[in-house]
Parts: sequence; structure tokens; C-alpha cells
Amino acid sequence: MNSTDLIVVVVLVALFLLYKYLETIKELIFSNDDAISAVNSSSRDIAHVLTENNKNYLVLFGSQTGTAEDYAKKFAKELTAKFDLNVLCGDLELYDYGSLNELPENVIVSIFMSTYGEGDFPDGAVKFENFISTASESSLENLRFTVFGLGNSTYEFYNGAARKVQKYLQAAGASLLGSIGEGDDATGSTDEDYLTWKELIMGELKNVLSLDEQEQKFKPSFQLEILDTIDSNTSLGEPTKNYLPSALLKGEINGPFSISEPYLGHISNSRELFKSDDRNCIHSEFDISNTNLTYSTGDHLGIWPSNANEKVEQFLVAFNLNPETIFNMRQLDPTIKVPFPLPTTIGAAVRYYMEITGPVSRQFFGHLIQFAPNNDIKEKLTILSNDKNKFQTEITSKFFNIADAILYLSGGIKWETVPWGFLIETIPHLLPRYYSISSSSSLDKDSIHVTSVVENSIEPKSNTNVVGVTTNLLRNIQLAENKMLGSESNPLPVHYDLNGPRDLFRDYKLPIHVRKSTFRLPTNPSAPVIMIGPGTGVAPFRGFVRDRVNLLESDRSIKLGKHLLFYGCRNEDDYLYREEWIQYATILGESFEMNVAFSRVPGTPKIYVQDKLREQSKLIWQLIQDGAFLYVCGDAGRMAKDVHKTLLDIVMKEKGVSEDDAIEVIKMLKTSNRYQEDIW
Ligand code: FAD
Repeated sequence: MNSTDLIVVVVLVALFLLYKYLETIKELIFSNDDAISAVNSSSRDIAHVLTENNKNYLVLFGSQTGTAEDYAKKFAKELTAKFDLNVLCGDLELYDYGSLNELPENVIVSIFMSTYGEGDFPDGAVKFENFISTASESSLENLRFTVFGLGNSTYEFYNGAARKVQKYLQAAGASLLGSIGEGDDATGSTDEDYLTWKELIMGELKNVLSLDEQEQKFKPSFQLEILDTIDSNTSLGEPTKNYLPSALLKGEINGPFSISEPYLGHISNSRELFKSDDRNCIHSEFDISNTNLTYSTGDHLGIWPSNANEKVEQFLVAFNLNPETIFNMRQLDPTIKVPFPLPTTIGAAVRYYMEITGPVSRQFFGHLIQFAPNNDIKEKLTILSNDKNKFQTEITSKFFNIADAILYLSGGIKWETVPWGFLIETIPHLLPRYYSISSSSSLDKDSIHVTSVVENSIEPKSNTNVVGVTTNLLRNIQLAENKMLGSESNPLPVHYDLNGPRDLFRDYKLPIHVRKSTFRLPTNPSAPVIMIGPGTGVAPFRGFVRDRVNLLESDRSIKLGKHLLFYGCRNEDDYLYREEWIQYATILGESFEMNVAFSRVPGTPKIYVQDKLREQSKLIWQLIQDGAFLYVCGDAGRMAKDVHKTLLDIVMKEKGVSEDDAIEVIKMLKTSNRYQEDIW
């Protein structure tokens, strides 16, 4: 065979392989429902993509959990509805930015950026960060931009990533339009912060770009198509297309598992941890044996919920929707991805893909005006959407979800005037909830444990049940698995379809994925460890302590440093893992010490973890001097701040220094990773 023959043979083999694996290749490219396609372009060059798709405005987002993405999309949609702009809205990770200074004339860039960890950029935005932080002076002088940050003011580096975007871009000569917007999750005001910023920015854009404002009309990005039959490609709520029967026939899903491809984890063991009837905390163990799903102690588990039967029913009734309707959506704008696996049914979309129970946003009311069932309701909607305070008293303070709110406004009349396409494009997607893993990756290699307090309360003003989606689902599973569903002393506020789409979740399975964290024990086991975790904040410390138990049991000669655990609860009824700590203490001996603060024991003063810290002031300072690692987990609101303040006081008192010097000591501990927080 001469060289020409050889080339012919190689080409033929390549063509054969391409033909044989074409389907698989296509699937690999198109299967990821969560990835936004890099649009109608083979290029990643941002200016090129923009021109090729005839876009005249750019909205980019860096999102870790999906919130920044949601706000970016809302903003993009409104720019189109209000000013008829052709907006490209995409994830920062999809493009290259070498041509950012050469965007077509009058293109302004709006960046939505969430902050992660210690003021860090979300994973997908790190390349963008590298680009802008090293951009030379004047290299972006043609660029005009706006920034809105999604952050939490209880963290030290509040909106750190968004602030860095502003700093780096301005240092490279770019001009900021208006001022940076900052949404604060700690005060629950993200929505209102966004609305205030958005009003100003939209006004600014209108002037700068000489835009004509039109009455806001919903412009669909998709064309809906109603189908007649369900087949093996129709989604009934499967987490991704790879879980559809047509795909499952081709074999098991072997990972790698991630937020875009969750694993269906079987809850092999689940139990109630509280002893009282009125509050619940569920311990759930997900079996991960025989999978390539791995985790490290201190990581987070993402759990994908589905909506409760009662809430799904209420939503369908409120908008007069038929759950059986099968539909598909064709992209009218190739730059906007379809939001979930399609085709699907209305019932499946509402149950598995839409966030229908959280608080309603004022902006949603604004968008809804155009579809009000009558003039009277239209007027009410207009007033409420324009008046922050009225909206707060009439809607937010009553803990209404979307269906509650609209039925309240209409006096029970159904809102059949609202197009289904509008609801799909306007209501946020149901996102996974995160839990600090409470197992140890060395002791519990085959399972991942989570410890979740069930969110459930009755709102007195509206007498509605305010429930958390995921935690009530976990409780339903716990009761069903232990054959107790229906025999609970207080009736359950909500119930779920535990079998899932096409029985995929049968035998107590839920979609899960592991999110890496930086919350890690020191590698040197003799280093002292101080853990502060009241309530479910104790979850990762159960994992830490189990890690140390495993280490010691595998090598008795290991010398463990002092491990102090500060735990807080109301009383004996909600003392999490009470019996387990006794066993751990027996194994770990003097190296483990537990300090428990009870805050609601009748006849005794309220004691919190920070009181216990003060009691041990001398020991804590000694351990810090000996190289201790401090960990705080749980409530980001008051607890983390109080603990921080207490630690400052301890340093001031024991070291005999001023507050400023104590602040420096705590800063040093943080920068050297010896003061870590996992707070939410
Ligand atoms: P959601 O449905 O998300 O509701 C959230 C809250 O809003 C609930 O209190 C709910 O009652 C309330 N609500 C519902 N509807 C309305 C309405 N219309 N108006 C106003 N309020 C409403 N939690 C733990 O228990 N254990 C952990 O170990 C843990 N670790 C975490 C780690 C991280 C990194 C993070 C970010 C969070 C962690 N959480 C943990 C919190 C957890 O992620 C969830 O937020 C929590 O369990 C509630 O989830 P849910 O789906 O049940 O409630």
C-alpha cells in the first residue's frame, strides 16, 4: 500500500467512525440543557459573535448558583421590551474578550456578577477576571459598561467580584454608566436593590443611546408548538435529556456528575433528628456506592427539588392551565437557550422546572399588567408594582407566592389571559438547594449525609402555609421510607409525587450533585481545631469529627491536636446527633471537647455559642497561638457576626491589644486560611 492508499484508508475509516458515532457526538454537544449555546457562531470572539447575530447590546453574567443569570436575563428581556434593542445575553465563560474594545459602535455592556467565597469570581468568570485584571491602561477606553452585583453583606468581601469588575475595567480606561448596583441577599432586598438600580440605568441608557421608549410588551423569545402525543423523547420532568427513556436505552449515565448532569441518588437511610412535634430536622443519607460521584469532607451537596402537589395544583388553577398539554418551544432568537428539556408537558414544567412558591417580585407584577384579566385588576397591579411600600404591606409581608398573590388580587378569578409562554420566560427556574455535607469522605466513602431543618411555618396575616420546597420533600421521603407517611401527629402541609417522572425517582431517589468547597480540616492532624456551629451549622463538623475518628482508628499512634466544638441548640429536643457525640468523645478522648449552649431551657438564662466562647477565652487564645484553625458554620445573619465580634474581644482581652490590632490578628487568620466560614 503506497502513501496515497494509506491516506484514502485513513479518510474512509474516519468517515465511518464519524457516521457511526454521529448521534453520540451530537448528543455530547447538545445534551447539556444548562449550557447556553455559544449562539449562531463558531467563534468565541465577543465582537464577532455580536455582529454575526446582529445584536446591538450585550448582557453578560457570571453566576455560581443561577441568581446572577436570572437577573441578567430579566434585564435583557426588559431592554428588548422597552427599547426594542437586540440583546445578546450570555454566560461570561462562553466568550473570549480580546476584541472587547472593538465592539460595534454604541454597544454597551451590562455585567451581572455574583460573588463567591472570599470576594471571588464565580468559576465560569475566572478567565474574564484574568483578562480584565491584566488589561493595560487605556486598552478598553472605547468600552462603556454597567455592573450589578449579587452579594451578601454579612460577608467581609461584600459584592467583591462586582466591585473588582468596576475597578479593573475603569483602570483599563472603560467608562461606567451610572453607578454600580449591589443586591444584598442578607437583608432579602436583592429584588428591590435591583429595581432601584435598574430604573436609574434604564433612564441613563435612554439618554446616552437616544432610545425611544415603548409601552412594555412581552416579546416571546420562543414560538410555542402544541403536540399531540407523548413519546420517549418527551420530558415528563427528567432532570436532563440524558434521563429520557430514549437516552437511557443507550446505557447507564456514568457521569461525570455536575450541576448540568446530576446523579440520581438513592436515599438509603433517613431519620428525624428532633424530638419535638412542632419542628423537624431530617438526616438523609444518599448512597453513592458504585458511582464515580466523589466528595471531600466539607463540600456541599446540591439537591434538586420538585414542587409539592398542592402548590402545583394551586398554580395550574390560578392560571387555568391544563397540565396534560404537551408543548415544544422553537427558538425565535438563537442566542436564547431553551430553559428545560423539551418537548414536555405543562404539568411537568410547573412541577419540576419552575420556582412557583417563593416570594413574588414587584417586577413580576409590573410585567403582568399587560395580561390583567380586567381593568380593575390592571389598576391594582399598576399601583402595587409602582409602590414599594404598598407592595411590601399588601403582598410581601403576607408571604404570598405567585398564585396566592394573583388570586388575592383577582378575588379568586382565574388569570387565563396570561400566556403560558410568558410564564415560562418570566418565572425563575427551580434551582438546586445546597447543604453542607455532614458525612466524612474517608469514613463514609459510599454515602453522602445531609442535615436539613424543615422550613415550615403558618403565616398569621394570610393564614397560609409557608413552606420550603426541598426540606419538606426530604421530610416526606423520610416519612414514606420509614412507613410513617399519613401517621404523623400534625398533618403535613404539603405532599409530593415521590416517584417522579416515569417512576425515575422511585425508591426514594433525588437528583444531586457535589459542589466543591474550600472548607477543609488542616492536613496536619496535630494542629488544634476550633469549630463553631450552632443548629444545622454543626453539619460539616460532624463530617470533620468523623474524619478524625476514622484517622485515629486507622492509626492509633497519631497524635491529634485539640478539637473544640462549640454547638448551640434550644434544648435537649433539638440537640442534633446527641448520642453520636458521646461515641466520638469516647474514641477521640482528650483531643475532643464539646461545648453546648442551650438557648431555651425554661428557668435558665439563654446561652449562645458566643457565651461559651467567652467562657473558654483563655484556652481559645492559647490554641490560636499554637496554630489553631477556626471554623464557623451556619447562620450568616446574626450568628457569624456575633462570633466574629466575640473572637475580636477574646484577642483584645487575652493579648491585651487595641481593637485595631485585634482586627489585624483576625485578618491574618483569615488570609492564612486559619479562619474559615461556611455560612448561609
Ligand atoms: P425554599 O423553598 O428555598 O424557601 C426558602 C425560605 O423561604 C423558606 O424558609 C420558606 O419557608 C420561605 N418561603 C417560601 N415561600 C415563601 C414566600 N412566598 N414568601 C416568603 N418566604 C417564603 N440548610 C440546612 O438545613 N442544613 C445545611 O447544612 C445547610 N447548608 C447550606 C450550605 C450552603 C452553602 C447554603 C447556601 C445553604 C445551606 N442551607 C442549609 C440552606 C439550604 O440551602 C436551604 O436554603 C434551606 O434548606 C431551605 O430550602 P427549601 O428548598 O426547603 O426552602
